[in-house]
Amino acid sequence: MNNAFLLTLDTLNFREWSELTSNTKKCIDFCQQVGLIGYTLNEGCAKDHKKWKLGVSSRATDGYVWRCGECKSTRTIRDGTFFSKSKLEIRQVLDLMYFWSQSLDSHAMLRRHCNFASESTVVDWKNFVRDICGEYFLKHPVAIGGVGHIVEIDESAWTKRKYNRGRTVSNQWVFGGIDRDTRECFAVLVDHRDAATLLPIINEFILPGTTIYSDQWAAYNNIANGAHPQKYTHQTVNHSVNFVDPITHTHTQNIENLWMCMKMKKKSQMGQHVSLLGTHLVEFMWRRRFGERPFEYIIRSIQEKYPV
Ligand SMILES: [Zn+2]
Repeated sequence: MNNAFLLTLDTLNFREWSELTSNTKKCIDFCQQVGLIGYTLNEGCAKDHKKWKLGVSSRATDGYVWRCGECKSTRTIRDGTFFSKSKLEIRQVLDLMYFWSQSLDSHAMLRRHCNFASESTVVDWKNFVRDICGEYFLKHPVAIGGVGHIVEIDESAWTKRKYNRGRTVSNQWVFGGIDRDTRECFAVLVDHRDAATLLPIINEFILPGTTIYSDQWAAYNNIANGAHPQKYTHQTVNHSVNFVDPITHTHTQNIENLWMCMKMKKKSQMGQHVSLLGTHLVEFMWRRRFGERPFEYIIRSIQEKYPV
């Protein structure tokens, strides 16, 4: 894996990207540089030779195969890589990652520029990329705040349409927080807004020593009086009276803005079903975390899941 090359990925403009991946060989070279395809196979051939060479093959899907330098037996270049289960061309998958990471990810955009045959391919691949984001956070859990940091927390109601029951709507609660300094955030779906639900989430996502700002929702009453009273400092603002506390200047406008961004982003995702809200939040958190380097990090995340 070429780390110096990975660092440049998010500076590529579209012409440079097209040039870099203009044919299958270049796509394979690219994949080798970023660690999505190896420079050889780890295992030997049937006769246990370990002399794999990349060779041209008119019969192979990608036009290239691994060929044993001794007995000439072959393996597909997708073996053991994350391309192994896909019928798409390597270039289509790479294009999807490029466009998705640059937030040029509307269905119409992806379908046209990745040359996808159907709408369901777009949906499948967007879900796949979101799963990658989710798995990233399982391996690298989010923890925001810390000593000297302020984290704003809040709950927000999202409309949930029940498609199979006509026009009934109900609320899905989302609970989240944002670090004022680093802008890192977390957001999770919750079924209840009580202390028993919210306090464990606060403990999971917010580091000890943090000053937490919230509204005066009762569930937050014991944030600073729990089993470890020294863990957090807690300040509130009474939203029914002021949006900024006149004495302490406590406010939660950053988290309100975060909800607005999330809802706007969700609205722009055509055909978004509420069951995807959870993965949508994960994608949002992921994009926040990798700000200016999403292309590099979606590739690193895939690489971590499918090491070659
Ligand atoms: Zn062999």
